[in-house]
Amino acid sequence: MKKYKEYWINNQNNNTPTTGSTGNALRERNHLFYLSKRWRQTRLIILNENPICTVCNVEPAFHVHHIIPLHSVNGWSNRLNLDHLISICIGCHSKETQREQRELKYGKTTDRMNDLNNFD
Ligand SMILES: [Zn+2]
Repeated sequence: MKKYKEYWINNQNNNTPTTGSTGNALRERNHLFYLSKRWRQTRLIILNENPICTVCNVEPAFHVHHIIPLHSVNGWSNRLNLDHLISICIGCHSKETQREQRELKYGKTTDRMNDLNNFD
C-alpha cells in the first residue's frame, strides 16, 4: 500500500492509472473494500430502499453501483456516501462498467454525476 499512498500524495486529481504498480495497488485496495463489512452493510441499505434497477426501472437490482467510479479520488472519498450509490441490475451494471473502462482508456473525466441522465 506504500506505493498507493505516494501516488495519493503526488496526484490530487481524478486520473488514476489502471496499469503498473499503482494500478495494482488500487485494484487491491478496491478488492479489500468490497469485502468489508461496512460496504456489505451500505450495499444492503441501498438495495432495500430501491429493489428495482435505478437505470432501467424494470429489472430487479442485485448490484450497487458507485456513480463516481471507485478508482477516482472523488469516488473513493465518497465510497460509502448513500447519495452516490444506486441500485442497479446486472445488465445495466455491465454496460456502465464497460463505459467507465472506455472513459478511463481514453482519458475522459471520471466524475460522471452529470451523465446520469444520459444512460442508453
Ligand atoms: Zn437495469
